[in-house]
Amino acid sequence: MKQQKATHVTWHSHAVKREDRESLLKQRGVVLWFTGLSGSGKSTIANEVAFKLHSIGKLAYILDGDNVRQGLNKNLGFSPEDRKENIRRISEVTNLFLDAGLIIMTAFISPYGVDRNFCRELVGKDRFIEIYVKASLNTCEIRDPKCLYKKARAGEIKDFTGINAPYEAPEHPEIIIDTDKCDVEESANLVLKKLEELGII
Ligand code: ADP
Repeated sequence: MKQQKATHVTWHSHAVKREDRESLLKQRGVVLWFTGLSGSGKSTIANEVAFKLHSIGKLAYILDGDNVRQGLNKNLGFSPEDRKENIRRISEVTNLFLDAGLIIMTAFISPYGVDRNFCRELVGKDRFIEIYVKASLNTCEIRDPKCLYKKARAGEIKDFTGINAPYEAPEHPEIIIDTDKCDVEESANLVLKKLEELGII
């Protein structure tokens, strides 16, 4: 992790607190941290969950891999160090969204357990729901929605997760969704069911 460069920096407390925003929104802020191989279905499922939450009046927001890499993290690549910094920044942004009272969904491969755990520790275990979107490499490669596997196999992309970069599956995720077996609707419903069980919605 990068050291803090700025000195003489003081944290400001504000009069309106997270709890006030949460009670205004009638929800509890949590992060739904989707992790899995490229093409496993993270964005698709997060999108469906966001749609369902919106339709019942819950304020949710998706932080999506490629979108973040086009802006906030455009100076980062796919080396292990850059992937770590990518997730660190996303975790900090996630924490701000949580402070705003939102249900925040993150759709990043996030291949390293230690980086996902960094976010879990940062936001607090009771606000972190890790969702392992599981699909075989073969399935992801057949889906290949962005033709990335094809390019990786052709040697055009190096450090591609699942092909020539590692993916560490979560050991104790709160939810496992096997998209080899569940369709998008069933997958989203599994997430909603968990949120109900936890009393979040
Ligand atoms: P990721 O965000 O994990 O890279 P995407 O959501 O962008 O993956 O792409 C997943 C692709 O797989 C989409 O084209 C989607 O329509 C397809 N797909 C097929 N079955 C499922 C499923 N059960 N859940 C999610 N996506 C699925």
